[in-house]
Amino acid sequence: SSMASEKEASLAAVPSDSPTIFDKIVKKEIPATVVYEDEQVLAFRDISPQAPTHILIIPKVKDGLTGLSKAEERHCEILGRLLYTAKLVAKQEGLEDGFRIVINDGPNGCQSVYHIHVHLLGGRQMDWPPG
Ligand code: 5GP
Repeated sequence: SSMASEKEASLAAVPSDSPTIFDKIVKKEIPATVVYEDEQVLAFRDISPQAPTHILIIPKVKDGLTGLSKAEERHCEILGRLLYTAKLVAKQEGLEDGFRIVINDGPNGCQSVYHIHVHLLGGRQMDWPPG
């Protein structure tokens, strides 16, 4: 999707703890290109890639973690696991020249899906600052 429609999606998204499309992906009710899976996390290709490699890494169980701003002490282990998985998948994707990790939070952060996810982007030169 274009940046404008991505932004529109994030502004239209209602922050809540309700199930999201990512629960359906976890349950294999809708298809996704899964690149890594274990008991705790799932990594799959973003449907609207913003780089040659664009993967989302999510906890299989949300446990109230709609976004990083809702993190509690009990989430520390899964938060670490998400970042460690990003590293494993970056290696698996051959991103030896580097990559970008993004966690969008809330309307200002352009979050559109309220199930925490780490974006792994790579395969091209990234810009800084982000838009
Ligand atoms: P956010 O904007 O919340 O940080 O990121 C949500 C991401 O989920 C977006 O990059 C969007 O393209 C992706 N996405 C939304 N729906 C689906 C879907 O059904 N399947 C996949 N693979 N990605 C999705």
